[in-house]
Amino acid sequence: MNLVIFGPPGAGKGTQAKRLVSERGYIQLSTGDMLRAARKSGSQLGKKVAAIMDEGNLVSDEIVIALIDEQLDLNKNAPGFIFDGFPRTVAQAEALDGLLAGRDKQVDHVIRLAVDDAALLERIAIRFEEQARDDDNPTSFKVRLNAYNEQTAPLLPFYGSKGILKEVNGMNDIDTVAGDVARMLDLE
Ligand code: AMP
Repeated sequence: MNLVIFGPPGAGKGTQAKRLVSERGYIQLSTGDMLRAARKSGSQLGKKVAAIMDEGNLVSDEIVIALIDEQLDLNKNAPGFIFDGFPRTVAQAEALDGLLAGRDKQVDHVIRLAVDDAALLERIAIRFEEQARDDDNPTSFKVRLNAYNEQTAPLLPFYGSKGILKEVNGMNDIDTVAGDVARMLDLE
């Protein structure tokens, strides 16, 4: 079972992915987390992406595709993957299809967490206070939301046309959203 958890920044993708990790043993592959870890370690890659991330822009497709490729190899026996914050462009989605096909796998579900912009702004303001994530500041967040609308939202028709896109109301509380996600995964 391979799931793309999809939605704008602040939709709750990471929270829901972590629930599925603890409840089902799936592996969460968050490119945002991987890039933050690279920055923290002071690696070459971390230095390369720091400014781009702080501005709220997307790093290159090549970088994130290589990170995912590496993780798929490192977790060969995983019962399933949850792709969180990846893919974010159509080129990434096409690359993911290729990476999975080469391992006799596929994207089985794409679950979109739908949250309106006003609620996202509110949530991110709280997260900025709590976690002090640089790119949650109001200026960067606007850029991130723009990047989502312009570069990531086109994935909705991409996955819609494959018949694997489902939608959950991400405005509900965490448990309700988790219940809705679980039901969708267990339907098939
Ligand atoms: P996230 O934690 O998923 O919101 O990601 C934080 C930041 O990391 C994003 O604003 C981008 O700068 C970068 N990033 C994470 N995932 C991707 C991706 N799939 N493609 C391009 N940039 C990404």
